[in-house]
Amino acid sequence: QSTSPIIVVANRLPFIVGKDENGKPVRKQCAGGLVTAVAPVVVETNGLWIGWPGVFLEDNLEYIPESSPNDKSPTAGLKSEQVIPVNLPRDQFNAYYNGCCNATFWPLFHSMPDRALFQADKWEAYLSVNEEFAKLTMLAVRRVIAKEPGVVPLVWIHDYHLMCTANFIRSACEAEGITIKLAFFLHIPFPSWDIMRLFPWDDELLQNILGCDSIGFHLEDYCLNFIDCCHRRLGCRIDRQRMLIEHNSRTVSVHPLPISIPYERFESLSKTAEAVVKNNPEEQILLCVDRLDYTKGLVHRIKAFERLLEKHPEHIEKVVLLQVAVPSRTDVKEYQELKEELDMEIGKLNGRFSTPNWSPIRYIYGCVSQEQLAAFYRDSSVALVTPLRDGMNLVAKEFVACQTKEPGVLVLSPFAGAGTAMLEALQVNPYETELFSEVIHRAITMPKDERELRMKLLRKREKERDVNFWLESFLKSVNCYTKTSDSEN
Ligand code: UDP
Repeated sequence: QSTSPIIVVANRLPFIVGKDENGKPVRKQCAGGLVTAVAPVVVETNGLWIGWPGVFLEDNLEYIPESSPNDKSPTAGLKSEQVIPVNLPRDQFNAYYNGCCNATFWPLFHSMPDRALFQADKWEAYLSVNEEFAKLTMLAVRRVIAKEPGVVPLVWIHDYHLMCTANFIRSACEAEGITIKLAFFLHIPFPSWDIMRLFPWDDELLQNILGCDSIGFHLEDYCLNFIDCCHRRLGCRIDRQRMLIEHNSRTVSVHPLPISIPYERFESLSKTAEAVVKNNPEEQILLCVDRLDYTKGLVHRIKAFERLLEKHPEHIEKVVLLQVAVPSRTDVKEYQELKEELDMEIGKLNGRFSTPNWSPIRYIYGCVSQEQLAAFYRDSSVALVTPLRDGMNLVAKEFVACQTKEPGVLVLSPFAGAGTAMLEALQVNPYETELFSEVIHRAITMPKDERELRMKLLRKREKERDVNFWLESFLKSVNCYTKTSDSEN
């Protein structure tokens, strides 16, 4: 296997820099699926990771501590010299992150333009922070080349926070006569051109993304949306079939690369996790796991559940909806209001239907460990994954990986990226409350042989196309990877 050194550029480092009880800087883990998959490749290829360390310039925590000797996380092998922190003043970071990334791009790219704010000063902050990331990326590029002259590093930029770094990096490399490969992967949807053109600086944004050689999105639909934007907004020549775009005498390739999960890890967690405590052994759990975000459709789902209990009182005292809502962007007013609305709806429903021994909704506002999640996934009869819009949605895949006992039923919104491939799930439009409630009823009452068959097919696909498959597909798409006989099996 031969791979160029990989330089990952992401909004966050693969860990947070914090302090221990003596005030000494230490690494605090926040490893999700992406970090688990990508960090080992950075370690193996002697690459680097550039990102925000989770603290501000004012915190005076500028150096990266080594990992502790008992660190067993995927980033343990990452030496501190392989990590470049982007230290930013609090105000600048807030303007870039809250003001532009989350107030503009998040709603716009999820096709909810009415929620998007277009503010020139925040866009300027976004550009300046992206330039800062690019400068530090150049530091990494020079380091890699000094160590191994002649090598062509692969710079892999991640997500909507850093869509305007590529051109800064490209011009710096051209000025210094350095050859690199530039790739970008977007972890959220890419909207249609008709939504994108609402953004006042869309041409500048698109040209910046086109600074890369290779661009990846989860789905073919998102790829085609991007290609259309380049054609209609910039007048680029395009080849839709081969997914190529001509820009500034270069050809940029576009690739559908659906991200996935560490399947085996979740499967094995589900085999050892402790049983979930139920009111009675027959109780059926309907599981919902979401960040508390307006794209996730939490309130729409509560309404459908309410309809279910109205129309099918036979489920009273027999089912319970378990909602894990992970706090998110809690300093933003819109998110605080959403939490209030959800609290109110849950309170109303519980007040209306609870009996002396039972409440219809169990509500956890907080983050639970992956071990606990694996137990919830395994012991639930139904998972309701019903976002209004979602780039992929990993919860749907994790649920499937953990179905190692009695097979459950996945109810999935077609507006989640995962809905495109997971065809054996019961699909439901979360805006159609009446139908939604009927689909929940069908899931609860589905015969065992049908559950088994659907789940078997879902599990087979997810097992084959796990996060390692995604990573290999990415490396192939940038021609940085030669398959060994090992990985061919
Ligand atoms: N998750 C977690 N603890 C929780 C709830 C969720 O670790 O209490 C994880 C979950 O395992 C999944 C991720 O958070 O890997 C959510 O990813 P998804 O793609 O579904 O949504 P996102 O939050 O990225 O929009």
